[in-house]
Amino acid sequence: MNYEKFFNEQLLALKDDGNYREFSELERLRGRFPSAKCYNGPSEVTIWCSNDYLGMGQHPSVLQAMHETLDSTGAGAGGTRNISGTTHAHSILEAELADLHGKENALLFTSGYVSNWAALSTLAAKIPDCVVLTDQLNHASMIEGIRHSRATKIIWKHNDLDDLETKLASLPSSVPKLIAFESVYSMDGDIAPIAEICDLADKYNAMTYLDEVHAVGLYGPRGGGIAEREGLMNRLTVIEGTLGKAFGVMGGYIAASAALCDFVRSFASGFIFTTALPPAVAAGATAAIQHLKASALERSEHQVRVKQVRDALDTIGLPHISNPSHIIPVVVGNPVKCKYISDVLLKEYGIYIQPINYPTVPKGTERLRITPSPLHTADDVERLVSALEDLWMQCDLMRTSVAAQ
Ligand code: PMP
Repeated sequence: MNYEKFFNEQLLALKDDGNYREFSELERLRGRFPSAKCYNGPSEVTIWCSNDYLGMGQHPSVLQAMHETLDSTGAGAGGTRNISGTTHAHSILEAELADLHGKENALLFTSGYVSNWAALSTLAAKIPDCVVLTDQLNHASMIEGIRHSRATKIIWKHNDLDDLETKLASLPSSVPKLIAFESVYSMDGDIAPIAEICDLADKYNAMTYLDEVHAVGLYGPRGGGIAEREGLMNRLTVIEGTLGKAFGVMGGYIAASAALCDFVRSFASGFIFTTALPPAVAAGATAAIQHLKASALERSEHQVRVKQVRDALDTIGLPHISNPSHIIPVVVGNPVKCKYISDVLLKEYGIYIQPINYPTVPKGTERLRITPSPLHTADDVERLVSALEDLWMQCDLMRTSVAAQ
């Protein structure tokens, strides 16, 4: 086989479909988020697609904690958690996370992806005969973890309680069951009926695994996520989250009972055989969590900004999926046009929004996923919406509202 030829052909096919991913090379400017320096576009751009939802990656308390820890302890953890890599900063962060979610313990991983992969693959593989019931739109990290476990997997229709119940009822009562789902779904921004899923879990004696990656820091009186907001944290077996989005740093975790965390700590290869997070990263995440536990200001300003963007889009009739979260998916419905709009926004308007195409979303629903932050100004919103209006006309796109899916 001519390997190079094969690689190039595959890449060409992606390009022909408009699904080839190109990176914008950015440098976030300290204290000026959502502005960034751009190396392959206009010199300065406004970012409208960051998952640093609250700008905590630039927050003075986070930067100070990271600087102090870096200066006092050095760059890396120096090993896996088991072999010399567990520092005081990791223990403090795990205690902070357990407290955030009202759980006995928490366990850190190097990313949210790894936490889902490692925890789900371990639980599903090690609990004898475990059947995993997984929401149809679960994130790739959950899908891969479940697949790796080789446990029986049953996919239930997205957020569909009847379908979940039918599938639970079809299983023998003695079979161990794990229901895996998300609170805020990242691409459509819709929210799971967590209470009702917990009711079904109780009825059929199933464990629950909730990914709150797009909710931690953003919802709930202390930023514990949708489950905290709805008073449901104690009904969930496992709450999983990231430190890389609203907390502005990097890393992932699960929060659960002491026994479950110890079980995953003891059996998960994705925890055991990899270098621990740098202590400065752990310290930065702790500072972000502590700040957002005490301050609701960022959360409320975030919601205000989200509403401003939605209202402005409605005023000019741009189709966006309506949902009860902070994620605003503006549907283009064509991969080539989606990429074109994104390119022109960057080059001509200094606005950076990465196009979201297949396979991240189904074909025909290609979109711009807009994520406002409390640090965007009213002027930023006006510039964004007026640029989108120009491009919608230029691309001859529909101006109808798309209902929530
Ligand atoms: N879960 C969901 C729902 C996600 O969207 C993502 C990443 N976008 C992850 C997990 C992985 O989190 P991380 O980026 O921290 O690896």
